[in-house]
Amino acid sequence: MSQYDAIIIGGGHNGLTCAAYLARAGRKVLVLERRHVLGGAAVSEEVFPGFTFSVCSYVVSLLRPHIIRELDLARHGLQIIPLESSFVPYPDGRSLNRSADPQETRREIAGFSARDAERLDEFRVALTRMSHFVKNVIDNPAAAPGSLRPAELWQQLRLGKALKELGPDLQHLHMQLLTMSAVDFLDMWFESDQLKAPMAVSGIIGTYLGVRSPGTAYVLLHHYMGEIDGAFRSWGFARGGTGQVSNAIAGAARRYGAEIRTEAPVAEVLVRDGQAAGVVLASGEEILARNVVSNLDPHQTFLKMVDPRHFDGDFLGQIRRYKLRGSSGKVNLALDRLPEFACRPGDGPHMRGDIAIAPSIDYLEKAYDEAKYGQYSSRPYLNVVIPSLVDPSVAPPGKHVMSIFVQYAPYQHADGPAAWPEHREAFGDTVIDTLGEYMPTLKDDILHRQVLTPWDLEQQFGLTEGNIFHGELSLEQLAFLRPAAGWARYRTPLRRLWLCGSGAHPGGGIMGAPGELCAKTMLKGSQGRG
Ligand SMILES: Cc1cc2nc3c(=O)[nH]c(=O)nc-3n(C[C@H](O)[C@H](O)[C@H](O)COP(=O)(O)OP(=O)(O)OC[C@H]3O[C@@H](n4cnc5c(N)ncnc54)[C@H](O)[C@@H]3O)c2cc1C
Repeated sequence: MSQYDAIIIGGGHNGLTCAAYLARAGRKVLVLERRHVLGGAAVSEEVFPGFTFSVCSYVVSLLRPHIIRELDLARHGLQIIPLESSFVPYPDGRSLNRSADPQETRREIAGFSARDAERLDEFRVALTRMSHFVKNVIDNPAAAPGSLRPAELWQQLRLGKALKELGPDLQHLHMQLLTMSAVDFLDMWFESDQLKAPMAVSGIIGTYLGVRSPGTAYVLLHHYMGEIDGAFRSWGFARGGTGQVSNAIAGAARRYGAEIRTEAPVAEVLVRDGQAAGVVLASGEEILARNVVSNLDPHQTFLKMVDPRHFDGDFLGQIRRYKLRGSSGKVNLALDRLPEFACRPGDGPHMRGDIAIAPSIDYLEKAYDEAKYGQYSSRPYLNVVIPSLVDPSVAPPGKHVMSIFVQYAPYQHADGPAAWPEHREAFGDTVIDTLGEYMPTLKDDILHRQVLTPWDLEQQFGLTEGNIFHGELSLEQLAFLRPAAGWARYRTPLRRLWLCGSGAHPGGGIMGAPGELCAKTMLKGSQGRG
């Protein structure tokens, strides 16, 4: 007899979100997490005594506002501190700080191009309208074109109406966003390299593509979504680190009655009578459930957790071709004191937001060139934050934590993925040297460092090939194609096995959307191909 209505494999923030919604609806739910700590890639850990890091993801913006409300996450401790600014230093000693103050931002941009400063508002309005349109897509299960199922037909009608309301200019822009490179797209508005380079990087995060690769304009929009209500400051730090997002969701899930077990790795999905019937833990323990929901990425779920004979060749082919190709790493630093930029000394607002080392389009494209041949970039794109400046709970008094997201670090290293440990420290040195060119005291200020290569992300966090989004956000594996054509609505070809992680629509980032939409689809109760 089944002990649970649903077992969720993985306590990442999407697995926890799914659990919370199912438990809220009265279902008996068990979450099984492999690690000692919840959150997956949205996790806070005291890596060095007194220093708490958002070990992987470090800023929050995409978390769906209705999930925050419906699960009452503020009551469970979630607090978002807005990012103050977006700062870029340049090798020639100049710098650019974009902030919540529109006048000040225009003045800063005008230092590079008066024309760009004038066009900024027009760009923001267009992208905000596009974001509102895309919100229709990300807040609903993906509708397959041509599907005659009533729910999908209804969605297609709503989408068609929203597209019509965009008007011809924005409809064209939508097509351009879907097909263009981030650089080509930005070229339609702006002329200065200094502005376009830090804007273009949003298009490459988590992809194995360059800023000039077609398709990256859409990823730019995906990251722009954080500004959906026109509020620049809607990107933020979770107080206590991004693990607090997961902990708040776990708190809600427990309050609704879900059970959560850590250090409970699942070895395989039990299949009986052609349908998922429970799980077997690595310890050998068997637990039965009416439904099994996987928070793991599509490769792990379909190629490792279930015997392949339960899937047909076409589906397995699609899953094998599904691209993970991790391209990012992370360096977390415990600092003895706050370093400063040579070009803009002191602890100003520019230190309290995100800091990009992305001085030009060519710099970024060269960083990608190296990655194409299996080398980490000798001068990588860096995205840096210092959360301890706005959240003193994460470091001892007077000390700081710095989080550095790094691209490119290709999982497929020229010497093979398993060679990454040999290159780990040299990779860490490259990152510190790159940032040190702008922050001369940085090296002396470091007390401890944690270097995570894509290989480490796979080993420690279970992210296949180190892909931060459970699969690239490229068009051919988004919406009704994520993770496979015909199987984008959380159901899988194995009855009663569901997918609720970032490898399901609408994809990666701390959104909670795949977990929520999976739970809501399950609660509607229908099975079958979707
Ligand atoms: C370095 C890095 C930086 C990022 N930066 C940002 C950012 O700043 N902002 C943002 O929005 N997004 C960011 N992301 C992306 C974001 O963190 C992820 O897309 C998201 O957290 C994935 O959530 P998930 O619940 O779908 O999956 P995961 O977080 O991957 O959760 C899966 C869970 O399953 C567990 N698990 C694996 N195998 C088993 C098993 N056999 N049995 C039981 N449990 C198992 C894992 O331990 C994990 O807890 C970043 C990701 C990384 C790696």
